[in-house]
Amino acid sequence: MADKANRKEVPYKIILSEDEIPASWYNMRADMKNKPAPMLDPGTMEPVTEEALRHVFCDEAVRQELDNETRFIPIPEDIRNFYRMYRPAPLIHAEFLEKMLDTPAKIFYKFEGNNTSGSHKLNSAIPQAYFAKSQGLKGITTETGAGQWGTALSMACAFYKLDCRVFMVKCSYEQKPFRREIMRTYGAQVTPSPSDTTEVGRRILAEFPDSPGSLGCAVSEAVEAAVTREGYRYVLGSVLNQVLLHQSIIGLETKTALDKYGIKPDVIIGCAGGGSNLGGLIAPFAGEKLRGESDCRLVAVEPASCPSFTRGRFAYDFCDTGRICPLAKMYTLGSSFMPASTHAGGLRYHGMNPVLSQLYHDGLLEAVAATQNDVFRAATAFARVEGILPAPESSHAIKVAIDEALRCKRTGKAETIVFGLTGTGYFDMVAYGKFNDGTLSEEPLTEEALQKGFAAMPRQ
Ligand SMILES: *Cc1c(COP(=O)(O)O)cnc(C)c1O
Repeated sequence: MADKANRKEVPYKIILSEDEIPASWYNMRADMKNKPAPMLDPGTMEPVTEEALRHVFCDEAVRQELDNETRFIPIPEDIRNFYRMYRPAPLIHAEFLEKMLDTPAKIFYKFEGNNTSGSHKLNSAIPQAYFAKSQGLKGITTETGAGQWGTALSMACAFYKLDCRVFMVKCSYEQKPFRREIMRTYGAQVTPSPSDTTEVGRRILAEFPDSPGSLGCAVSEAVEAAVTREGYRYVLGSVLNQVLLHQSIIGLETKTALDKYGIKPDVIIGCAGGGSNLGGLIAPFAGEKLRGESDCRLVAVEPASCPSFTRGRFAYDFCDTGRICPLAKMYTLGSSFMPASTHAGGLRYHGMNPVLSQLYHDGLLEAVAATQNDVFRAATAFARVEGILPAPESSHAIKVAIDEALRCKRTGKAETIVFGLTGTGYFDMVAYGKFNDGTLSEEPLTEEALQKGFAAMPRQ
């Protein structure tokens, strides 16, 4: 009893106050001994210059992209103000999930789906739109896979009164008409990719007329649309170091919430598409690890259909199918790799952020791949006890959090597991429907398809 009185009871939801929204983003590159490799200009194969990047990206975005040294970068007050609309995000103690699994583990999840765009992507859409506006631009272009990034950016652009042009991966455009309409409602112009509105798009269509599209291909189209228009720049919702930087608010809030109750995580798990939510969630914890202050495990979960970490190569590669962007050193399946049309659109990218790639290469980050049906099984089990209907992308993290909790049950260890619940799945009901009907496909990725992707990679 006395023990119990002394211990602070952890509430079901740990909710911070508005003034606990971080005042700065945390740049974990500052704490890395092995920095991520610089991006290379595809023409010269020399590191890209600030000057060259400014043709494509906003000035402030370029500064942040290349800054490997500044540990804390202040968040402009205007951005924090916007963040207040939906932040701080709650850290939820998954009591009902623990009970269902009958595990001694403690499970917490950071829920980023509490805004209309339905995911963590708004955390980076806001600063990117803000930087474009501050620079006096007319508009920005981008790509979107499952539609979450496009929706987030449309919201941010509506707020800052910027023109927003979104190239949406064709299979998602067709699978998710409501996503498209939200974007249009916020005032964005949405084009299915590959399209005939760009040179890159026309080239891809000529070669693959039935292409379902891919993120890499939509990136190429959006970049072309930006650089050929006066007063426009291109913005990207994942993969880049600046996006990880913006997403560090997920991890910073999580750490503040855990610290309040003296909780030290043993494992932190996040799904990984281009790596932004994972990089953001783990940022302060990876910092502790890099400084030798903690030995917390950090785990990336990727789809078995697009396994950049677990089956990819650590090499310089193009960031886009059209090969017009700089090369990045990352875990990659090759920029020409076309993943199967699975229902985790946000995880269908061929490469992985360079910071996370370096951490993985240095053994600071682990990775596992999960198959589609296992992921939906986990999603459904989670929804039935915790109530939230998770996005298929997020459910990759749920799947592995459950596996870890079951491992704790077998070993009797009361570890603390934290995972990122990146968003809600309301627009994924076609996929849930197939899972409910038992018709969700599972096509194993062949060695042959992988080798094809590797063969088309640039010579190292
Ligand atoms: C985009 C997205 C992801 C994957 O992107 P990352 O950059 O790897 O975080 C994960 N979950 C949701 C809900 C998304 O929208």
